[in-house]
Formats: sequence, structure tokens, C-alpha cells
Amino acid sequence: MRRETLAVHSGGEVDRSTGAIAPPLSLSTTFEHAPSYEAAQGFHYIRDGNPIQTRLETALADLEGGGASVVFGSGMAAAAAALQSLPRGSHVLFATDIYHALRTLARDFLPHWGIDSSFADLTDLDAAAGALRPATKLVWAETPSNPLLQILDLRKLSDLAHRSGAQLLVDNTFATPILQQPISLGADWVLHSTTKYCGGHSDVQGGALVGKSHESVVPLQQIRRVLGAVGSPFNSWLILRGLRTLAVRMPQHSANAMAIVTAFEGAPGVEAIHYPGLAAHPGHEVARQQMSAFGGMLSLRVRGGRTAALKVAGRVKLFVNATSLGGVESLIEHRASAEGPDSTTPQNLLRLSVGLEHPEDLIDDLRQALQGT
Ligand SMILES: *Cc1c(COP(=O)(O)O)cnc(C)c1O
Repeated sequence: MRRETLAVHSGGEVDRSTGAIAPPLSLSTTFEHAPSYEAAQGFHYIRDGNPIQTRLETALADLEGGGASVVFGSGMAAAAAALQSLPRGSHVLFATDIYHALRTLARDFLPHWGIDSSFADLTDLDAAAGALRPATKLVWAETPSNPLLQILDLRKLSDLAHRSGAQLLVDNTFATPILQQPISLGADWVLHSTTKYCGGHSDVQGGALVGKSHESVVPLQQIRRVLGAVGSPFNSWLILRGLRTLAVRMPQHSANAMAIVTAFEGAPGVEAIHYPGLAAHPGHEVARQQMSAFGGMLSLRVRGGRTAALKVAGRVKLFVNATSLGGVESLIEHRASAEGPDSTTPQNLLRLSVGLEHPEDLIDDLRQALQGT
């Protein structure tokens, strides 16, 4: 089946006990055993798994074209589990432009777990090849990346990683499986912060890892079971409901972002726009090949530095000056402030999560906010 159909139906079997079309929200923490102690319906205890989480895992695995998925309480919990599954002495090669909290995790936690890490510009395949080590077990890619919207060539990176005995993990939070399917391009793992587009309404936190096969995710299920970074049934329920409309939301987010980019390319007050849909973007050709549209995220570099950027973010009326992304409403944020004092993000950068409003209303709002910068 095609992705639009999977988005609507996967994990959505009619409930046999009631005929309910919407999946029942089962809050039970424990499930009755059969006399010989086996799980009568496949469930024992909520930390091991629960019915609505299983439905969500089926849907995410189907959408990504993977064999199985494991749902966590947040995107960072999923990311941490992927890293906790590596043996001591492993090395992880991260792309330089990635979600900021991952950089903090690499700096403050990986050393305690006996894992080495380093960063390299993975848009440059020679630099990537040079940064691989014999101990490299995992290459960590994010494309489009946060917040510079860099594009990584997933087919070439997966070949490179596999040739040196490493696996490739792709954080697919920005693109979602509707716009990009990393496993079909050779990736071994897909990571999601389902808090973002998958949930889609800024009202739920979650994360997931999708692997190529059922066997591949067994160690991750064990990490979740023992370390306890589970999501709640209600969160799984909301994220599954979000997935039902993902295939219609993503093309519209992308079209709205493209309309904004077209309106402000070369505009006074705008020093640069980072968006892979722009022909001048260095990753445009690769993005055209590996994505079906360019997504709803973009970054604007404002003329006049930090002060001007903060002023613009403070003047918006329709956009909301807030962090996070992927909801139906448009958000703008001064990314360096959100990342904190160790941020490497340019001080004049505003990250936009373009929502589902009419694009002309968004353009009008940005135009008034940029006036006089
Ligand atoms: C938000 C985000 C994360 C972390 O997800 P949480 O659900 O906030 O823990 C990871 N990667 C990317 C690209 C994100 O945008």
C-alpha cells in the first residue's frame, strides 16, 4: 500500500470486542495472565508494552518501510536508547548540525557510558570518510538538519558507513516518512521526535526508533523495559491520531514554506534563507532526489545581527515566538537563545516552523515584522 493509505489505516484495526473504529484508549497498567502465566493477549505490564503503543509502533514501522519500531517517552529518550545499545569502546560520528540536546548528550553522558564521539561535516563525503574510525559503530545523520537545513546524501552516507562496518541512523523528524524514507536509501535506523510533525498539534511528547527488522529492535525494547523511558498510552493515542493526517499536512507545510521563501528571497532585511527547496541551496539536487517535497522548516538570517533578529521575533503577531515545531500553527524562534550559551548557531538566525495557515497571512505578518530592520 501507498504511504497515504498506510497513514490512515496502519495500526487501525477495528476493535473486535466493541466494533470501535477509533482505537480504544486502554489505560490498564497490567493484563490478565493465562493459567500457565503466558500473556493471554500478548501483554503483561505497561512498561513492557500496551495495546495502543503496539498500534503506534506498527504504524510508524509501516510508514518508514521498516521491520519494527520502538516507541519512547520523547525523541531524546529514543536517541539515548540508540546510544545505550552500543558496546563500551564504540565511537559515534555525529553530523555537525544536529538537534542541540544531542550535542549535550554526547558531551555530558557518552563519556560515562564508555562511548567516544566526534563531529564532522557530513555534507562533505571526504570529510566523513576521514572521520570514520575502526571503532565507529554508528554514523548519526540529520537531514534536513536543525537549524541550518543542511542536506546529507543518505545513499552515499549509508554506503560509506557500511563499508567501514558502521550503521547509519537518520533523525527524520523534519522530513517525516511522508517526504523521505531513509531505510529505502540504505539507513539502518530512523529516529523521530514524534512530538513534532507526527503528533502535529503541539500537544504531545514522544519519540521512536524504527529498525530494519524485528530482531534489530529487540535490544531497544529491553533498554526501554529496564530503563523505563516509556511513553504513556494517551501519548501513543494522540500520536497515532496525528499520523492519520500526516500525508496531507506535509505537502501543505512544504507549499507554505516555499511560498514564504519565494516572497522573502533577496528581500531587504533578509541576509540569507536556508531552505533546501531553493535552487541555490548547496543540497538542493540531493534533496530533490531523496525527498518528495522540502518540508515546513526554514531559517532566516536577518540583516543587523542578534539585535535585529530578536526584534523581528518580538514583532510577529500571527507567528508565535516559541520553540518546537511541526504543529498546525506557525512558530518563530531565535534559535541561538533557545540553544543557550554554548550554541554555535548564527546569532542572526530565526528558525521558522511554517504551519497550515494561509501563506499570504504568514507573509504579511513576516513583512510587517521585518519592516525597519
Ligand atoms: C525535538 C527534536 C528532537 C528531540 O525530541 P524531544 O521529543 O523534544 O525529546 C530530536 N531531533 C530533532 C530533529 C528534533 O527536532
